[in-house]
Amino acid sequence: MNNKKIRVLGIESSCDETSVSVVEKSNGDYKVLSNVVKSQIEIHKFYGGVVPELAARAHSDIIDKLIVMALSDAKLSFKNINAISATAGPGLLGGLLVGVVAAKTLSYILNKPFIAINHLEGHALSIKLERSIEYPYLLLLVSGGHTEFTIIKGFNSYKRIGTTIDDALGEAFDKTARLLNLDYPGGPQIEKYAKLGDKNRFKLPMPLMNEKNAHFSFAGLKSAIANIVAKHRCTEKFKKDMAASFQETVNRIIFKKSQNAIRAYKKIIKNNKKIKIVVAGGVAANKGIRKSLKRLGEIEDCEFLFPSIKYCTDNGAMIALAGIERFERNKFNKLSFKPRPRWPLDKNAVFMKGKRTVEG
Ligand code: AMP
Ligand code: MG
Repeated sequence: MNNKKIRVLGIESSCDETSVSVVEKSNGDYKVLSNVVKSQIEIHKFYGGVVPELAARAHSDIIDKLIVMALSDAKLSFKNINAISATAGPGLLGGLLVGVVAAKTLSYILNKPFIAINHLEGHALSIKLERSIEYPYLLLLVSGGHTEFTIIKGFNSYKRIGTTIDDALGEAFDKTARLLNLDYPGGPQIEKYAKLGDKNRFKLPMPLMNEKNAHFSFAGLKSAIANIVAKHRCTEKFKKDMAASFQETVNRIIFKKSQNAIRAYKKIIKNNKKIKIVVAGGVAANKGIRKSLKRLGEIEDCEFLFPSIKYCTDNGAMIALAGIERFERNKFNKLSFKPRPRWPLDKNAVFMKGKRTVEG
């Protein structure tokens, strides 16, 4: 099995990036033969956030062209592909439908297996696109739609040990940026302004900070900032100081909650190996967060791993890779498989959104 070449075409369309990729596995190594990404930032910028209907239309306008480009970049034709995989959830239904219907159509016409991928599994395994890693390891996923700690015990064996009870971290960056009249997406803008401001000027709340669990809450942070914004003139100096104060607060939250997650991991995974923590999602690009996590790694003797930015943000390569893992195990899906807007990676994880109290 190991020396046979497997090639899967992966489609991603769960949010605001359309992406198609071909990944090959040969002798146990993965190679990204192509990874075409079309971001919709220009479409959603005006609204300060992703507009689901516009996102779905933009995916459907371009999906066929990206499939052709991905094959042509890989210098392959459909006959060289073993299976077609697509993100089937979680995400925005309109976008998921576009990718899933495209994949099912190809699967039917070409008579090749269709594989429905959980987007979070793609993020969980994406590190393998660039380096080999042994199970188990810990995933910290911080993106526009997700914020969670999940133990990747093995393939298809996932245990969530922390999540947000309201907004995702990327959402908090985007909403804060909007309150400060900064461009979308907010993360990079906040990061830029934060470097120039006084991080001690505003004391912002850190919900759930004193609880020993690895859960997050960011909605209160946004409300506190809205209250302060209402009482100030939004000068450049104010924006810089607020961005710096926000960034500092986030760094401290991520540091503390990651420390709690490492402790929770150690209670579940009992081996003497150095813990590896993969940090994925668009927010993983943030240098302030990277710096605090590296410091935590030294204190806790853990290793934080950051995939390249192109594989941290949404991409077809991680969906193709997850497709290969499933292909090797004959885990195919029927064409009747329906996209799932909500699809937790850990089936036993309790739905936490809106919980006012959290245990543990
Ligand atoms: P994703 O959901 O993985 O596609 O990533 C998009 C999210 O990542 C958006 O909420 C962005 O604001 C956020 N983001 C991107 N770059 C940064 C950054 N440098 N710092 C913080 N957040 C970021
Ligand atoms: Mg995105």
